[in-house]
Order: sequence, then structure tokens, then C-alpha cells
Amino acid sequence: MDFELRYTETQEEFRKEVRAFIEENAYKEPITTIDPMRVTPEMWNKGREIQRKLGARGWYAPGYAKEYGGGGLDREHRAVLAEEFARIREQRRWPAATAGSTEVSAIHTSGLMSFGTEEQKHRFLPRLLSGEWYGFQAFTEPDAGTDEASMKSTAVRDGDVYIINGTKVFIGHSPPPIHPDYLYWPAVTDPNAPRHENISAFFIPGDLPGITYTPLDLIAAEGSKWEVTCEDVPCPADRLIGEENKGWLVTQATLAAEHGGGGVVIPHRSSLTLRFIDYCKNTLRNGKPISKDPMVQDILVQLYIEDRVTRLWGLRNFAMAQGQIPRLRYTGTQTALHGKRFSPQLGKAFMDILGPHCLTDDPELAILVGAVEHQVRLADVTHIGGTPETQQIMMSRGLGLGRAAGR
Ligand SMILES: Cc1cc2nc3c(=O)[nH]c(=O)nc-3n(C[C@H](O)[C@H](O)[C@H](O)COP(=O)(O)OP(=O)(O)OC[C@H]3O[C@@H](n4cnc5c(N)ncnc54)[C@H](O)[C@@H]3O)c2cc1C
Repeated sequence: MDFELRYTETQEEFRKEVRAFIEENAYKEPITTIDPMRVTPEMWNKGREIQRKLGARGWYAPGYAKEYGGGGLDREHRAVLAEEFARIREQRRWPAATAGSTEVSAIHTSGLMSFGTEEQKHRFLPRLLSGEWYGFQAFTEPDAGTDEASMKSTAVRDGDVYIINGTKVFIGHSPPPIHPDYLYWPAVTDPNAPRHENISAFFIPGDLPGITYTPLDLIAAEGSKWEVTCEDVPCPADRLIGEENKGWLVTQATLAAEHGGGGVVIPHRSSLTLRFIDYCKNTLRNGKPISKDPMVQDILVQLYIEDRVTRLWGLRNFAMAQGQIPRLRYTGTQTALHGKRFSPQLGKAFMDILGPHCLTDDPELAILVGAVEHQVRLADVTHIGGTPETQQIMMSRGLGLGRAAGR
């Protein structure tokens, strides 16, 4: 395979240690669903337990400084961890969806790292980096998705607390009835200030009185989704992240991470693309491998190219985030946009090559144990973390074509 990383003997020794940990903690047999929408509370809790075990070794936040509870590991060690966890996921022996994540999400740490006070970093980061806390990113509102600055949630200071009111949608990942430890929730703190200078960001304790969680029934998602409402919720004032009315900056640090700025070693959908190519080589149709059909070959070559571009850009962004090569402003959104365009293409390829067979999730008949059906259902769900149109606009800003960021 091209673009593989090369490792030293010491790093290969580390790989053995990681594999032993994984074998100890993975399911012995493949689990019956790869669909994150069908994660059971039992699977979720197993995933959370493993996250805490990873945290105890510094592997849940391998690249973060030890003083905040991270592993203080270099990029090669992080890459080994990412490769080994991708391998076990491919075998379907790892709890699915977010509780199966093996590295803390930068969505939850970036704002705090960039704008939290030193005291806040020492208070909150160890809980995030050790896997002790699990939270929902609660940004989107019924009337404020792409245009996040139009949010209507409010936070009004009252002594030692802020009183929070508002509703967020498409939130979180955990299966009912599991609720988060905190809600990462931006709200308007100065209704008279201009847009972008009127918002503050909070880590609201997830179990305060006045918070209501309502499950949302979506066609496809990377885990169960919730509508969350706060009605006169008394959030302790020390849960304000960064300064009051500077929350827009905090959320932007988060969105930069969400839009691919950190890079990846093994991109989302990559193993599915490669496994599908193998499937076509090894599955007979009318007595010949599916891959012998020239139309199929055309499609597979195109998928392979797109997959390898995603892989290269993921590695480039990873190297940039590690400070190995200089950063460019557009690279995160470039990769995110490419991934969002690739998703429908992959879904269409499955339909063109497999026909209605790709639509079944029957345990006996489903192709690649349901992964194909799930991708077909997920193919056009490209809203997560900003729509393709949004990524296009941000990419043009990064190239200096659109208006400057922050205006
Ligand atoms: C599966 C899933 C998981 C999600 N998880 C979370 C989560 O955990 N936390 C969270 O806070 N949010 C989450 N979201 C919400 C997601 O961030 C929003 O869906 C997204 O920001 C788009 O907002 P919207 O759905 O309100 O669409 P809208 O903003 O209403 O957009 C509708 C359409 O108009 C287009 N459009 C809007 N403005 C422009 C413009 N200026 N120029 C050109 N086109 C434009 C959009 O591209 C889109 O096609 C999730 C969404 C999904 C589907």
C-alpha cells in the first residue's frame, strides 16, 4: 500500500504493547452491528470503560502535555495508536460510535486550550484527557445551524450562577437513556452587543435541574442524536470558558478542529473503500469476479484515487498540526470538503455496482456486514460539522478569495 508510514524498532515495540492492550479489551468475536445508531447502552458503557483505561495510560490524549493529563507522546506513537485502533475497528471487534473513540475529540479541548485560563485548563483538561468526562457539543439551534451567530440561547448572570435558557438540536451521540457529564453550550450574554461579540461559552454540568433530553429519530447519524432544552438552568459561573462575550472565539477554535485542522492517519471511510475493492475482486457474479466488469473497474479506480487523496491530505494536515511542516489556512476545510463530496460518490458507487443488494442490512445477506448499507444511508448526510457549501465558503476565505475570517 502506498503512503504507509515507516517506524523504528522502538516504535514497533510500542505497537506490540498497544496490540496486547487492544486484545485484552476488544470483543472476542465481531459485534453484530457497525451502525452507530444501534449502539446499545451496554456497548456504550464498555466503550467508556475502555476510554478511561486508555486515559490511565495517557493513550486517550497521546499528543497532549503531561501537565494537563495527556500522554506527552510524539507523532509516531500517535500514528501507531491510530493505525492499531483502525485495524481492530475494521475487524468489528471494537465498540462502535463515539464511546468507541480512542482519542479525545479536539472539538471538546480546542476552545479550552486556546482561550481557557491556566486555572481552567488544570481544572477541566485532566477530566477530558483521562476519559473521565464525556460531553455533548451543543452548538446548533433550530434557527441557527450554518449561521451559528444567530443563536437565541441566553445566559444571564445572577450572583454565582448564569441562568441558561434555550434549545439545541442534532446534539450528542449517546444511546438513550445515557446523558453527558457536561454540555459545551454557547449562549448570548449581551443581547445589546454586536454579533460575534455577544456570546459566551459554557461547560454546563449535564445533570442540572431544568435540562431536558429528547431523543431524535434521524435516518442516519454517527450515533444517537438529541434535542436538549435548558429552562432556567443555574450553571455555576466558574463553568464559563474564556472571557464573557468572547465565546465566539472559543467556538471558532472548536470549529477549526472539527473542520479537519488536526489531520488524520487513517481517514474515515478509507478502510470501507479498500475493503469494497477487495470484495469486488473476490466475489463472483455470473461466474466472474465483479471487478472484471470494465464499468466496475472505472468506478473502483476513481474511488481508489479519491481515497488516496483523502489519505494524503489527512497525513499532511496531521504533520502540520504536529508542527512538522508549516500550516496553511485552507487545508482543514479542503479535506473536509473533499470528504463530504466523496461520501455521496461512495454511496452511488455501491448502488451502481451492487444494485438493490446494497440496501439490505439483513445479518445473513448484508454486504461487508452492513457497512455498505450504512454508508448508502449515510451518503448524503453531509451536514455534520458544517455543510459542503459552508466548507466551500471557508475554503475560499482560506485562499484569500472570500471575505476575511471573523468579519
Ligand atoms: C448527523 C448530524 C450530527 C450532528 N451533530 C451535531 C452535534 O453533535 N452538535 C451540534 O452542535 N450540531 C450537530 N449537527 C448540526 C450540524 O452542525 C448542522 O446541521 C449544520 O451546521 C447545518 O445547519 P442546519 O442543519 O441548520 O442547516 P442550515 O444552516 O439551515 O442550512 C440549510 C442549507 O442551506 C445552505 N446554506 C446555509 N447558509 C448558506 C450560505 N451562507 N451560503 C450557501 N449555502 C448556505 C446549507 O449549506 C444547507 O445546504 C449535526 C447534524 C447532523 C445531520
